[in-house]
Amino acid sequence: MTVPDRQLWTMRPHGPFRIRVLLALIEHQWFVRLRYIFVLLALMLLVVERAQPAAQPRPPMLWVMVAVLALVNIVWTVVGRRLRGGLSGSDAPSAESINQVTWLVNAQMVLDILILTGMLRFSGGIENPMAIFYLFHMLIAALLLKPFNALIQGAWALLLFAGLAAGECLGWIAPHYRFVAWAESLAAHSDPLYVVVSVGVLAAGVVGTLYFTLQISLGLDEQERELCEANAALRASKEAIERLQERRSRFLRTAAHQLKTPLTGIEMLAGLIRDGIVGTNDVAKTVGRIIQRCRDATAQVTELLMLERVEGAPLDRHTVTGTRVSTALGRSIQKIRAQVEAKGIQFTAAIDCDAQLTVAVDTRDFEDCIGNLLDNAVKYTVAAGGKIGLVARPDDGGVRIEIRDNGIGIASTSLESIFEPFHRGNEALVANIPGSGLGLTIVREIVEQARGRITVSSQPGQGSEFALWFPLWTVAERDKAPIVSWNTADGREFAAHVATTE
Ligand code: ADP
Repeated sequence: MTVPDRQLWTMRPHGPFRIRVLLALIEHQWFVRLRYIFVLLALMLLVVERAQPAAQPRPPMLWVMVAVLALVNIVWTVVGRRLRGGLSGSDAPSAESINQVTWLVNAQMVLDILILTGMLRFSGGIENPMAIFYLFHMLIAALLLKPFNALIQGAWALLLFAGLAAGECLGWIAPHYRFVAWAESLAAHSDPLYVVVSVGVLAAGVVGTLYFTLQISLGLDEQERELCEANAALRASKEAIERLQERRSRFLRTAAHQLKTPLTGIEMLAGLIRDGIVGTNDVAKTVGRIIQRCRDATAQVTELLMLERVEGAPLDRHTVTGTRVSTALGRSIQKIRAQVEAKGIQFTAAIDCDAQLTVAVDTRDFEDCIGNLLDNAVKYTVAAGGKIGLVARPDDGGVRIEIRDNGIGIASTSLESIFEPFHRGNEALVANIPGSGLGLTIVREIVEQARGRITVSSQPGQGSEFALWFPLWTVAERDKAPIVSWNTADGREFAAHVATTE
């Protein structure tokens, strides 16, 4: 616990707990009650003392002092009630209320210290052990007031006590009303050594009380602040977890719903065959449709598992080995070749990368990314006159891979959402091209994890271009935030930081 010394001299407000205590003291009039108790006790003592046959009567001014304390206390009662009206009912009192309360407590303490000195003056001066009450005030000041205010109160108490001591010692204040009869012969108040020791001891008490109490209370403020911060951080992470859980369950609901569609179709088609509704000639066709639905369901499950794997895999896998770009691209092209040929699409690839060029992405993830984008390019490109191009080249401390097609394209309104799970573009839905809406989510997840970038630009009916950028394995730009950007139909470019967790 380190509390910089300078904090003692600032007007820095206290921590919330001490502010609450300060407000509660005013609200419940604790100081006022204490003063009334003190006045009562003082009066009782004075009356009992007077009843003693041997006792010398106390000077009338001491009675006046006690009466002044009682009167002043009535004023504080009224002022306190007014302030209390403004405080009650509000959970978070305004800065103005806190200021007013601070002023009130300061003013009360200034007058209390003055009246205490007055009482000492008429009941034994520095020989009266009641001088210890100064310390009681210092303790309260250091606990409840701002450090600067507490120091002023300490200086005020010392000034008055030292003034009283000096006045009595030098004979400026006369007469000295002794505290006990036997002390008269000692006349300690006029002994300079006794006076210096008394003032010194009180000064040490005041300074020590203020210093240690302030250190402890400022330290507690610091601890409270740290606790508040930790509490806020905990609350924020709890909310983040809740949001994540909500996202997960939404994801699961949608996934289940998506899977239900092919399964319901399969059930319905199988039922038609079982009930003899499908003619013998059509059975093969209907079974073919069942097989297609099974394939759709399997493809969805595969993508769901792929997403699950990518999301759950350790992030450092992208930097452990890296991926040789040309080799991995070669493998991805090989995998798609059959589909391209089956559809009669023209495919060109220009890989302008050194055979050793390595990017900081896990090889399996890299191939999943390229595979997904090539799959989409083939899927969303109409057979006749279809063209797909793949370009790879070193760029900006990494490798840029562009995959473009002249397929159905994507409307600018869909460009923002196609990376979200299960989101599909209108063009794909209208053309009735099957898909799970998970491929680009997987791609985005991998790109984010590898601190890469993905850009998409597309025009409906003209085609699309997806551009990936991955950092080189040796110059993995770990600090670059992942970005998804897209171009609208009218050529404007949008870019957004994509967060995996909200
Ligand atoms: P899926 O292709 O299984 O529907 P994706 O997440 O891979 O899921 O793609 C999301 C959507 O983005 C697709 O449904 C489609 O509307 C659009 N899309 C993706 N790639 C292309 C492309 N090359 N051409 C046209 N539309 C595309």
